[in-house]
Amino acid sequence: MTVLPDEVKTALTKLRENGYEAFIIGGCVRDSLLGAEPKDYDITTSALPEETERVFCAYRVIETGIKHGTVTVLIGDMPLEITTYRIDSEYSDNRRPDSVTFTKSLYEDTARRDFTMNAVAIDENGSIADFHGGRNDIENKLIRCVGDPDKRFGEDALRILRAVRFSSVLGFDIEENTKAAVFRNKDLLKNISSERIASELVKLICGKDARRVICEYIDVIGAVIPELLPMKGFDQHNYHHVYDVLVHTAVAVDNAPPEPVLRLAALFHDVGKPLTFSIKDGIGHFYGHAAKSAEIANEVLSRLKFDNYTRETAVKLIKLHDGQIEESEKAVKRFLNRHSPEIFFMLLQLKRADNLAQAPEYHSRTEHLDRLRVIAKDILSREECFSIKQLEINGRDLLQLGFEPSPSLGAALDDILEKVMNGELENERGALLAYAESKLSSL
Ligand code: ATP
Ligand code: MG
Repeated sequence: MTVLPDEVKTALTKLRENGYEAFIIGGCVRDSLLGAEPKDYDITTSALPEETERVFCAYRVIETGIKHGTVTVLIGDMPLEITTYRIDSEYSDNRRPDSVTFTKSLYEDTARRDFTMNAVAIDENGSIADFHGGRNDIENKLIRCVGDPDKRFGEDALRILRAVRFSSVLGFDIEENTKAAVFRNKDLLKNISSERIASELVKLICGKDARRVICEYIDVIGAVIPELLPMKGFDQHNYHHVYDVLVHTAVAVDNAPPEPVLRLAALFHDVGKPLTFSIKDGIGHFYGHAAKSAEIANEVLSRLKFDNYTRETAVKLIKLHDGQIEESEKAVKRFLNRHSPEIFFMLLQLKRADNLAQAPEYHSRTEHLDRLRVIAKDILSREECFSIKQLEINGRDLLQLGFEPSPSLGAALDDILEKVMNGELENERGALLAYAESKLSSL
């Protein structure tokens, strides 16, 4: 158990001195019992929101979710979410309660929480209230619903995906009864908003056990992204591969850095394979699969309402993942020009993840990626030119020389850049102007 920060102790003590009960609860308790540093602290209290505001009148208080009983109090630099004990009433559509009722009972507040590991309460002296056996489950690395799993998933179907996400992030198993209910109720996820699904999905694929969880719970993930299901068990009939498309994908996800865009790109990079499969002389081919995968990823990420940057970057990486880049300055500069350094380095990471998910004898191909990386780093550190905007002259200079605005101006800049990238021309203003002038007279 990690030590409580002073700010948290202050908040709990102040509430108690004013006659209220107060505990930390949820993720912060779970993480500190696991010996990990919690990323934030949630406090649960018998004080009503307006009473909490009164207790902290000398502090900055933000009414974050006053309807649900939550206010945020800033103690020092630390924002603390303080929520009144509550019971969630009536779930009419498998998502979020219609209204909340405040209660004076800590037990009732813990009973509305999703999993036993998230329902342990601790006060500032380290006293623990554990009504549902959460501590034991944390020790045994088990995710178990508080109460009857079917009922709890029926109330709020997002809990199904939360269970799977926690399994990936924490490396816990889902307890048998809860697990059976996860599968039994998976179709209720269709009632959950795209934004909530997307946020759980990203955490799931960035988790340390992403590989296991993707394989084990593909049918649950498939309830919201059916496009992934054809990968399951799809034999590639190809000597590059030791896994079916799904396991290959899961291993690739695992090998990609745990950043949303890269892991999403890995998740979808081969999703178009089953649709582009052909077989010749017993060997499987997937012509055009990168473009097909990119198309499917674009559809899914739009449907799940991912932001444009995430969607567009992931789609671009998927589209490019199977292309070859020659190990030369010229080829790398061309790529940097057409795309960007950011895309280049991300693509190398995706390619590495893909490569490490292939048959072991092909893993040494990552050395090629390392060399490409060195070439690009060199180009960037020497500030070599690979784009028109880095040229020491611009469109205005050419207009002054007498070039027509379009299309000859654009073509001239492209030609100058090409010569500079090839080392035929120095990126120096005088030299570039002289070359442009000679070009103009030959037009
Ligand atoms: P994380 O590390 O992802 O923040 P967390 O457990 O803190 O994990 P939150 O989403 O921040 O998760 O929720 C805080 C607490 O609120 C949970 O620990 C749980 O007790 C409760 N909770 C959150 N979502 C639900 C839900 N859908 N149903 C029931 N209880 C929930
Ligand atoms: Mg949290």
